[in-house]
Amino acid sequence: MTVTRFAPSPTGYIHIGNLRTALFNWLIARKAGGTFILRLDDTDPDRSKEEYVDAIKEDLEWLGLTWDRVERQSLRLDRYAEAADALRAAGRFYEAFETPTELDLKRKKQLNMGRPPVYDRAALGLDEAEKERLRAERGPGVWRFKLDQERIEWEDGILGPVSIDAASVSDPVLIRGDGQVLYTLASVVDDTEMGVTHVVRGSDHVTNTATQIQIMAALGHGHPDFAHHSLLTGPQGEALSKRLGTLSLRDLRAGGLEPMAVLSLMARLGSSDPVELRSSLDELIEGFDVTRFGAAPTKFDAGDLKPLTARVLAARPYEDMAGTIRAAGVPDAIAPDFWSVVRENVETRADIAPWWHLFRDGPTPQVAEEDRDFVDEALALLPPHPYGPGTWSEWTGAVKARTGRKGKSLFMPLRLALTGQARGPEMAQVLPLFQVPLR
Ligand code: GLU
Repeated sequence: MTVTRFAPSPTGYIHIGNLRTALFNWLIARKAGGTFILRLDDTDPDRSKEEYVDAIKEDLEWLGLTWDRVERQSLRLDRYAEAADALRAAGRFYEAFETPTELDLKRKKQLNMGRPPVYDRAALGLDEAEKERLRAERGPGVWRFKLDQERIEWEDGILGPVSIDAASVSDPVLIRGDGQVLYTLASVVDDTEMGVTHVVRGSDHVTNTATQIQIMAALGHGHPDFAHHSLLTGPQGEALSKRLGTLSLRDLRAGGLEPMAVLSLMARLGSSDPVELRSSLDELIEGFDVTRFGAAPTKFDAGDLKPLTARVLAARPYEDMAGTIRAAGVPDAIAPDFWSVVRENVETRADIAPWWHLFRDGPTPQVAEEDRDFVDEALALLPPHPYGPGTWSEWTGAVKARTGRKGKSLFMPLRLALTGQARGPEMAQVLPLFQVPLR
């Protein structure tokens, strides 16, 4: 049974980078007919907010990434305390008292000597009396996990074989001085107890994975399959981290992007398969293969989402759009015709209402100075309203005969006069949609 999880900390809105993690885990679970858990990593009571929990759920629902159950780390603190006791009993947990300033100083010294800034385990040398004194002086210490200094190796679903020398990694702090359990421990306990079989996350977690594999082993467990996807960069390869705040899923949604445009791009970007527009989640699941993704940073251009959104909309049958079209005010009787005429000419759903307003109210004509007389002459020849499918060719034939204009110099001024735009659907189809006479 495949079990995956998406484990955001509810300390902010989720962005396009988080979405990648959520989507891969969701796709793996759905493809295997397994379970997808939404796990809220909310052990930090100061930074975790209910409003972000709601926002994360709303954003995932918008995309259709449904979960089978929700877990909250804040409700599982007793489980983590038990695991901490087990690590203590196994001699793999030790209390350390260095202040952040002292640790910083140690790191600087090591770097100056050309050594990696790995915690020197000084606390392992403290005897009980010294610990008592430090506790009295500084309060309770942090709890560090004592890594076995050997190579930690795993077969990564994306990176291939990974081998990390534990001696190059600091013994991770799993519990803070104030008793707060940190993600590294909580995640290990959850992944084990919840039977998580596959963990896909960003490559910024590779070192965590190494330490978590050892912690799991120290608790007597194996580990899930890990896969680390590359991080997104901007279109030029620049770090995206600073811009991620502007790439929240809520902003993308407010900008009118279609879920299938976002999902189609993110399910393929950075893989060796081309981006293909999918019209349903089932198609997306069908075409997904995590092993096709590469380790190289993945360039992401938010500008690609608009044209994809336009393509998603152009492909939507009327039945799928009826609600939006009705909400824009289009009467049901002409709505199917309306949609077949404008569907190729909307970038987002927000463009639907302006088209309707044009047909309902008539245009704000755009007439160049040199075309003024021509347009007046042409409009005088326009057959009476309502217009039919033959009106455009009948009319432009007459205008051509009268004025001698042809081709672009005939059609473009008329399009601009009737729609106020240089581009749009076939005029022969546009004309019958006008609800008002145009002269
Ligand atoms: N809460 C962690 C994060 O958002 C989860 C990482 C993981 O998937 O284990 O980075």
